[in-house]
Amino acid sequence: MSQNVSGAVTSHLMATFARVDLAFERGEGVWLIATNGERYLDFASGVAVNALGHAHPHLVAALAEQSQKLWHVSNLYEIPEGERAAQRLCAASFADVVFFCNSGAEAVEGAIKTARKYQSVSGHPERYRAITFEGAFHGRTLAMLAAGGQKKYLDGFGPPVEGFDQVAFNDLAAVKKAIGTETAAIMIEPLMGEGGVRTVEPSFLRALRELCDQNGLLLILDEVQSGMGRTGELFAYQRAGVIPDIMPLAKALGGGFPVGAVLATSEAAKGMTPGTHGSTFGGNPLAMSAVNATLDVMLAPGFFDHVKKIGILFKQRLAEIKDRYPELIAEVRGEGLLVGLRAVVPAGELVNAIRAEKMLAVGAGDNVVRLLPPLIVSEQEMAEGIARLDRACAQLSRSAKRPAAVPRPKEETAG
Ligand SMILES: *Cc1c(COP(=O)(O)O)cnc(C)c1O
Repeated sequence: MSQNVSGAVTSHLMATFARVDLAFERGEGVWLIATNGERYLDFASGVAVNALGHAHPHLVAALAEQSQKLWHVSNLYEIPEGERAAQRLCAASFADVVFFCNSGAEAVEGAIKTARKYQSVSGHPERYRAITFEGAFHGRTLAMLAAGGQKKYLDGFGPPVEGFDQVAFNDLAAVKKAIGTETAAIMIEPLMGEGGVRTVEPSFLRALRELCDQNGLLLILDEVQSGMGRTGELFAYQRAGVIPDIMPLAKALGGGFPVGAVLATSEAAKGMTPGTHGSTFGGNPLAMSAVNATLDVMLAPGFFDHVKKIGILFKQRLAEIKDRYPELIAEVRGEGLLVGLRAVVPAGELVNAIRAEKMLAVGAGDNVVRLLPPLIVSEQEMAEGIARLDRACAQLSRSAKRPAAVPRPKEETAG
């Protein structure tokens, strides 16, 4: 930050984010330490990214070791670390092949390209459209804005990219109606994150799978947010028991290192031959060491038992909070450690009240506050989070009853 002539603080970062006036310099597990030394309990995980918390010793060691050997070589050469990461992701999922990229939007866009190419090489070049759902979020590239279809994100960026047909969420009749001769795929998040932690019924996912099979369409499950352990399984589709043809991943895949992936069956990826797709950075040795280190931790015996157990406890405690503050919280949603509180008050006010108790949460659509603790959160740390949430609600409830701006007591620094 610098100051301009009038004394106002200016930033040279493009003003695309409304940032909170708070910066961190260090992290330790579920804790973030601000530049002023205050400790924050991180139940945001960098928006579902830091699944193993901050400065996880195994990730730190793996990246430190790789950083002294090799960072980047390009995809003109073989990358053994990438072969290993792909082999492990396939062994742990429905997939046969993986394409590595650098972000979620790029992964979802790669999934759409894979589906279109599949139809094209299967004798149906006319099939290029994807059916997507209202309230979905698939990223911020021009095509993914069109896939998500949210007006507030599309506004001012010209005509939306062609080839996406939005239908109402959980409306099977609308999906059936939208299937036409140009449809290539159906794409949905098995648990909508940004859209407000909205659960998709397993029966709805099963019906989509059937529709795809009957009509020669591919099913794309966007697990950029729900994947990599968030819901208590490595992938959310495993809970629903519905197997996709293509699955984009990112967010927690590298434990905080920027990396995305498109997972697919070899049939769905049969059009993706040399030259059809690419990425300069995608799958470089540094990123692949982050993926392998993340998998080392997540695939170790007992990891998901912990996530499931703590997820159940968490939801029970959150239900108690909801019962205690019905004037603030209408509903507890989600699975595992991808949880949302649908707020009665504006969700942003609840996020701010939580932050005043030195705890981080994230807003979402549908007036929801997302709670996304690192998957390594202990029972004790979870209890601390509940205590802080309780205090935040008590404070917000009091100030809502006395709107005459009572100054807030200064919060204690605990941790
Ligand atoms: C975050 C997210 C994306 C976009 O990921 P970026 O890395 O921000 O491009 C896409 N799909 C889903 C479901 C997401 O949650």
